[in-house]
Amino acid sequence: MMSILLKNAQVITLNDDSDVYDKCCVGIKHKKIDYVGHYYPGIDDEYETVLDCTDKAVMPGFVNAHTHSAMTIFRNYADDMKLMDWLYKKIFPLEDKLDGDIVYWASSLAIVEMIKSGTTMFNDMYFFMDKTAEACIDSGIKAALARGLSGDVADNDDPKIKEAVELYKNYNNAGEGRIKVMLSPHAIYTCSLPYLKMVAEKSREFKIPIHTHVSETKSEVDGSIKKYGMSPVKLLDNIEMLKNDTVAAHCVVVDDDDLRILSQRGVNVAHNPESNMKLASGIAPVTKMTDMGINVCIGTDGASSNNNLDMVEELRMAAYLQKVHNEDPTALPVDEVLKMATINGAKALGFKDSGMIKEGMAADIIVINTDKPYYYPRYDIKSAIVYSGSSSDVETVIIDGSIVMKNNELVTMDEERIYSEVGRCVKKLIG
Ligand SMILES: [Zn+2]
Repeated sequence: MMSILLKNAQVITLNDDSDVYDKCCVGIKHKKIDYVGHYYPGIDDEYETVLDCTDKAVMPGFVNAHTHSAMTIFRNYADDMKLMDWLYKKIFPLEDKLDGDIVYWASSLAIVEMIKSGTTMFNDMYFFMDKTAEACIDSGIKAALARGLSGDVADNDDPKIKEAVELYKNYNNAGEGRIKVMLSPHAIYTCSLPYLKMVAEKSREFKIPIHTHVSETKSEVDGSIKKYGMSPVKLLDNIEMLKNDTVAAHCVVVDDDDLRILSQRGVNVAHNPESNMKLASGIAPVTKMTDMGINVCIGTDGASSNNNLDMVEELRMAAYLQKVHNEDPTALPVDEVLKMATINGAKALGFKDSGMIKEGMAADIIVINTDKPYYYPRYDIKSAIVYSGSSSDVETVIIDGSIVMKNNELVTMDEERIYSEVGRCVKKLIG
């Protein structure tokens, strides 16, 4: 088992008091953080690998709380369209032509991008998810995965629901515990009410957490009120789909009653600011959510509605959006947005031992090279990362105690091969 010492680091703990320590050591043994503190003579000998982190910041890896990793295959294929036109005219017809081979390589491309930009864990809903699981296992990244579900007829023999439960049986806690499996009804407009009820029942039967899209656009909410006489949040609450392990992506068009329900049920909200901006969905009332104690985390959404998986960009946009929305520059300050992108996300995905630098926590850690002009003169490292830094400064990435990128070189993945396989898959898909 690999043991690693990071020394001379500026450590951003993001623990309860959110301290930053200068010239600090972080020791890693048996996949866990086993030491955070001062250097002492002889400490180097206690670890197999010693990385000098002078001029570098060390912090928990980012958690991308909502994405569709294999959608990298559609990146920049169709942009500047309305959500429903984009989905029904461009994306859904091509998705019919996907296969496991395409999903494996497109997911691998997403994972390369995520690791290189400091993401150590992600939450994914899509198709051929056993292939995404294999890509995760091969790369060493952590993930919560779910087979996307949509349908009209509530049939227990529905091949999609069977596949979703199979995925749980085969891959939950796979990859030495790095993979978790969830159940993902796509949205209330792609699933009938009986179908949603069936998924809710499966979730209870097998104790599988739910990850779904909720109240992304005004047209979705208007449609729900017209069809069911209530908002999507109330509808999902009525069928007991909203619980403290549920991840609700978006929650853009929500009223105070909806927020009260989300808060009471302990639902985790995955906020996707760039996707919401690009698709003109609106601005999620994030400060209201946090005031009500809702666990808000941050996601990129798929790379064809963003169009990248860059969490640094995402948390900066989250902060800016709330400031402009509330006309209040104090809204969503640095500490809060950093926690959303780390500890809150890890909690939402069911990895309760990840998301901070603290003894006993899982070693999901990134090392950022801060010897760049825009980090100087170094008044506040957390502000620098959120407001002036870049994800490309992430230099070394450790997941579950193993180094997956060292000094910008990927350890577990063959980047060139992945680009070339993705090219082959595109030919298969589009011709
Ligand atoms: Zn999505």
